[in-house]
Amino acid sequence: MVIGIIGAGASGMAAALAAAELPEARVVLLERQARVGRKLQATGNGRCNLTNLHALRGGYHGQEPDFWGKALERFGPEETLGWFRGLGLFTVAEESGRVYPYSDQANSVVDVLRFALDRPNITLKTGFEVEKVRKTSAGFRVEGAGETVECDRLIVACGGLAGTKLGGSMSGYKLLRSLGHHCTKLRPALVQLKTGWSGVAALKGVRANCHAEIYRGETLISRSTGELQFTEYGLSGPVIFEISRDVCQGAGDWRCRLDFLPEVSREELAGELLRRKGTRLPVSELLTGILHNRLGRVLAQAVGIVGSGFAAEVSEDSLWNLAQTVKGFEVSLTEPLGMDSAQVTAGGILTSEFDPETLESRLVPGLYACGEVLDVDGDCGGYNLQWAWSSGRLAGTSAGRNMI
Ligand SMILES: Cc1cc2nc3c(=O)[nH]c(=O)nc-3n(C[C@H](O)[C@H](O)[C@H](O)COP(=O)(O)OP(=O)(O)OC[C@H]3O[C@@H](n4cnc5c(N)ncnc54)[C@H](O)[C@@H]3O)c2cc1C
Repeated sequence: MVIGIIGAGASGMAAALAAAELPEARVVLLERQARVGRKLQATGNGRCNLTNLHALRGGYHGQEPDFWGKALERFGPEETLGWFRGLGLFTVAEESGRVYPYSDQANSVVDVLRFALDRPNITLKTGFEVEKVRKTSAGFRVEGAGETVECDRLIVACGGLAGTKLGGSMSGYKLLRSLGHHCTKLRPALVQLKTGWSGVAALKGVRANCHAEIYRGETLISRSTGELQFTEYGLSGPVIFEISRDVCQGAGDWRCRLDFLPEVSREELAGELLRRKGTRLPVSELLTGILHNRLGRVLAQAVGIVGSGFAAEVSEDSLWNLAQTVKGFEVSLTEPLGMDSAQVTAGGILTSEFDPETLESRLVPGLYACGEVLDVDGDCGGYNLQWAWSSGRLAGTSAGRNMI
């Protein structure tokens, strides 16, 4: 009996290894790119944040917000780490719960999976782009350019549209729709936000720890604390990814308020600036030792503290204004960057059309789906890969078990 799997990314490889644990199963894993796990290799800035120890507490989104639960209950972060340890991967957990390979290289994760796939009952076909899938009386016919694979069970693990340069595509949605499934609207998530503030380009590359709040008009939409990165067009980094969901959806006055010293009060900061007024510090260095130099200068300029004079010449009011700006700098937001830059796709194939206990289609018996192609997306911090491992394992074991 043959289990066909389309996509050798995170969830497809997990599905293949789970299915292949059943000795009766013969797995055919089809990947359109030249090698497996191309996106996985780029995750976590090349470090691969492979899970989060708190993932069982939630952090997932979709039209059915609890759909992810069954898969993670069976195969959560603990089981994932045990499984990877069994494959030969050493890992390290940060205080935040984020887990990385001990080597700090995403390559290590891809390599242990790649080596594990090398077993007699798994056939890996790379460079095989599935173009069509048909339901037959015996199972499924999977067609690529010039080659056809017949299988009894089929798992679609094609991933989402996010990260298009790394292989994100519409393919999985199209294949599942051709079999009668439906898809929600797709949106980029965990993505940079563009700003209309022209000063941002001068800060490109600067990182800062901050508390960020997103407002639409006067309404607070979301907030988070963590690392911010300025880019040529806007705001990025974990703190922005956390709050980028649903930002700029619909018209309105979208703004981000940034507190660059969340643990220091305005009074304490103003006190320090007033102390500096009594020194021969140049005005361009007023925030030196407190913030990144470039950021300090830009914030001082924003309140009109410019020129080559000394701190002593700056009025007390201006110093209080500067303290206020450091604690609540506002930039306008225009839109999120597109799918190319997003880490994950919000939306996907309707989960109501799949059984959360097995990930089998409720419409087409013998068809399974896992990973990002389904309408499940997680927060920043290892949640999306955990969903890929959990759902991939569940689809793989269910497809195999249902054959016996
Ligand atoms: C830059 C970046 C960084 C990220 N960092 C993290 C992180 O640190 N932690 C985290 O949890 N998540 C991270 N993510 C998200 C995470 O990588 C994805 O959610 C996860 O890889 C989804 O797994 P998947 O198996 O569903 O899809 P993928 O891993 O995308 O795999 C799908 C595979 O299917 C193949 N395929 C598609 N269509 C076809 C077809 N028609 N025929 C054959 N093959 C096909 C693709 O080539 C691909 O190899 C990141 C994403 C990006 C883009």
